[in-house]
Amino acid sequence: MKHTLPPLPYAYDALEPYIDAKTMKLHHTKHHQTYIDKLNAALEKYPDLQEKSVEDLLRSLATFKVEETDKAAIRNHGGGHANHSLFWQIMGPKKETDKKLTGEIVKAFGSLDDFKKQFTDIAVKLFGSGWAWLARDEKGNLHLHGMPNQDSPYLHGHVPVIGLDVWEHAYYLKYQNRRAEYIENWWKVLKLI
Ligand code: MN
Repeated sequence: MKHTLPPLPYAYDALEPYIDAKTMKLHHTKHHQTYIDKLNAALEKYPDLQEKSVEDLLRSLATFKVEETDKAAIRNHGGGHANHSLFWQIMGPKKETDKKLTGEIVKAFGSLDDFKKQFTDIAVKLFGSGWAWLARDEKGNLHLHGMPNQDSPYLHGHVPVIGLDVWEHAYYLKYQNRRAEYIENWWKVLKLI
């Protein structure tokens, strides 16, 4: 079973003016597609791994008996596939507030504003390319993490809830080097809270 690009659940221009259509189209059809193509290529030698979901691949990666270069490729490109698949889902042109989640966030971080401040701080300060994450640990507790490259919370047994892509390809066309401005506007298209 080959991994395939999930369709974007809205139009490329649906997140305008906060995220521009050109960035969305490139990001989805080129960057995300490339992670998928390279993940499929890395799995070619391993028919048993081809049957696994990308989440299972990342969760169990450490246990696989595969060459180190292939393991790195599954980590990077499988992570890229899983991360972007979630990223498209949690954004949208209209707020669809998840009341259960916001309640849990308030409990864990004191208030929504405190959560946003801490998450933003991680995203702004993350060095180089990577993602800011809100994830659940094994006990279901919420945690914030900054992770490099396309590393997924699944690698550590966590389940990603909210992820923000701070690779330059996610914002450079519209925001150039102004990452903080991209992040500030991204909260407006995060539909969950
Ligand atoms: Mn990206």
